[in-house]
Amino acid sequence: MKPKISRRDFLKYLGLGTAGTAALLEGVNVTPAFASTPEDKLPTFELGPLKIKKAKETASVCAYCGCGCGLIIYSEGERVIHIEGDPDNPNSDGAMCCKGMALGDANTIVNAKRKRELNRQRAIDVLYRAPGSSKWEKKDWDWALTEIAKRVKKTRDETFEEKDENGITVNRTQAICHIGSASIDNEENYIMHKLMRSLGVINLDHHARL
Ligand code: SF4
Repeated sequence: MKPKISRRDFLKYLGLGTAGTAALLEGVNVTPAFASTPEDKLPTFELGPLKIKKAKETASVCAYCGCGCGLIIYSEGERVIHIEGDPDNPNSDGAMCCKGMALGDANTIVNAKRKRELNRQRAIDVLYRAPGSSKWEKKDWDWALTEIAKRVKKTRDETFEEKDENGITVNRTQAICHIGSASIDNEENYIMHKLMRSLGVINLDHHARL
């Protein structure tokens, strides 16, 4: 009976190249077939352990542009060790462009010893600089979200227009704009759009255009 390989497995092994083969043949000596090489001259490669063997697999979306290609992130602890296209994602069918393939570099850097390590300079906390201050203060998300809500309400209350200069009903504020995200899906974009429209925000754009 022929072994069954799903479409997802097929693309996964194809995308991983030798690593994908290693998933199947780890610890086995492999002799690749080169068309014009006599059999006794064929080189033999010893396949090492697969680097993603113990990694956690998380499905996500590329954050760079508006195509929204699906990806699978392999991580160990807080370190991303590999990223590849997600063959289950209907937008991209497992494909990614070279920019998306380099996404792992957002999480890691190459140190002076030419070793890849976690990028400690990434901002992962809420940082707030008060008006007129030269210092950044670390805040928690509860504080930040409450502060954002307060400021949105204040700005909307102060700038809301029911009618324009011609007396036409507009129910809008032009003092707030919203930048969308390539990292969220259609449904999340729909909800965000509804929220902004319900506030009367008409200036909506997307960070992939910036
Ligand atoms: S940057 Fe490349 S991989 Fe990322 S969403 Fe755009 S096309 Fe896809």
